Amino acid sequence: MNIPDQARVAHATLSPDKVMSKLVSLAKRRGFIFPSSEIYGGLSSCFDYGPLGSEMKKNVKDLWWTSMTRKHQNIVGIDASIMMNPTVWEASGHVSSFNDPMIDDRTTKRRYRADHLIENHIEKLRRDGREEDAHRVGASYERASEAENQNRAFYDIIITEEIKAPDTGSSDWTEVRQFNLMFQCNMGALADASGIVYLRPETAQGIFVNFHNVRESGRMRVPFGIAQIGKAFRNEIVKGNFIFRMVEFEQMEMQYFVKPGAQEEAFEAWREERFNWYVERLGIGQEKLHWYRHDKLAHYADLAYDIKFAFPFGIEEIEGIHSRTDFDLKQHQEFSGKNMEYIDQATNERYIPYVVETSAGCDRLFLALLCDAYNEDVVDGEQRVMLKFSPKIAPVKAAVLPLMKKGEMGEKAAGLRDALAGDFLVQYDDAGSIGKRYRRQDEIGTPFCVTVDHQTLEDETVTVRHRDTAAQERIGISKVKEFLYANLT
Ligand code: ATP
Repeated sequence: MNIPDQARVAHATLSPDKVMSKLVSLAKRRGFIFPSSEIYGGLSSCFDYGPLGSEMKKNVKDLWWTSMTRKHQNIVGIDASIMMNPTVWEASGHVSSFNDPMIDDRTTKRRYRADHLIENHIEKLRRDGREEDAHRVGASYERASEAENQNRAFYDIIITEEIKAPDTGSSDWTEVRQFNLMFQCNMGALADASGIVYLRPETAQGIFVNFHNVRESGRMRVPFGIAQIGKAFRNEIVKGNFIFRMVEFEQMEMQYFVKPGAQEEAFEAWREERFNWYVERLGIGQEKLHWYRHDKLAHYADLAYDIKFAFPFGIEEIEGIHSRTDFDLKQHQEFSGKNMEYIDQATNERYIPYVVETSAGCDRLFLALLCDAYNEDVVDGEQRVMLKFSPKIAPVKAAVLPLMKKGEMGEKAAGLRDALAGDFLVQYDDAGSIGKRYRRQDEIGTPFCVTVDHQTLEDETVTVRHRDTAAQERIGISKVKEFLYANLT
């Protein structure tokens, strides 16, 4: 790209705690994210994507889908149903093990994660310089986590340490109980146990139960992968941080089936590929991404890493990469009575494949992209807010701005808008000063503004303004589409 002269841009330093509240208000004001059913007071941890948010989310999903399916000859996609035969969740272990230890405060009727209360207490002891106490409680907590009666052990720590609710200071505690995160609903006319179905808590199981369907219909040979984007539901008690932890969210998951023994190599390859995806395809700064290796593994995994992002509120997971062994297929074989083995055509070997999973949260990634892009600076002496999105995911790709509304300038600008509309999402804006119109586009992350002005009428050229540098260049009006293709993809 021919980078033209830069305008005078000075970058502001932002305090991290302010960024979140600014982002939440910008997201609502400009139509990225609204609170769900807001006119009725909303619903905790539920959000709606507005016109710009839904465009951008679609861009993120398309990018993931292309990278994970079309660019790999041996990975195909599916779109499984959200509700499944309830035995699926018995086989997967979710009915018995997808639990959090919860404790209620009788006075305030609020519910808390018992393990989080203890962890925060240990943290506070440390902050207060009471290292010895922190160490002592930490040791009891470790023993309690392994105890047969974990609930009782957690309860004892909370009572002995006189741990209080962080928000109310109250401590009228009930016993600790395991609380299952799956949403239950009733299918059909009967409200008894025979009609219970679950809203899926992960999309992965829809892939496992379709293992043979996909393999046979696509004549797939191990190693191969199945990818899926879809909604998952978790009755999360601890909510918060905008769209970071929701009860209804979208996952982008891929299960990669390999021969037993080949899982470690595949795991390493996927670890590298997924990390690079964030940096190279989405343009997220490498310094904001972190690896975390799990010590405590989920019931199905023998190795697990998270890719974490430095959010303003802390470094938190956006994607999990799990070596799921042959756990899921074996369980489905046992519970369904159907053979889940794969027969290698070349060698006649029979085995249940091992699985490497890459599981990203679309909404968490969306939040990471918003945080990564948020920028305040001063351009030519004027303060502006800018979302510095990679052009690939920016919702609006270009704005067409006639310097004057009426007459030939307006007509030419409308013609340009129509010529671009079939290829890109473009906005047409003829209201207010040109500076104001630029600011409006900067705030939603539009990479380019194309202005039709007096000179256009003389020589058929337009001004193209670059979002990040505020620099401008002139190109022929007939070259704008070509320019956008060259700079957006
Ligand atoms: P956490 O520890 O934060 O609850 P998790 O380890 O349970 O997450 P996974 O089961 O590995 O998450 O799910 C894969 C991805 O799905 C996560 O990396 C995250 O991006 C996303 N995800 C999980 N739970 C939620 C949620 N409640 N809201 C939004 N996204 C979620």
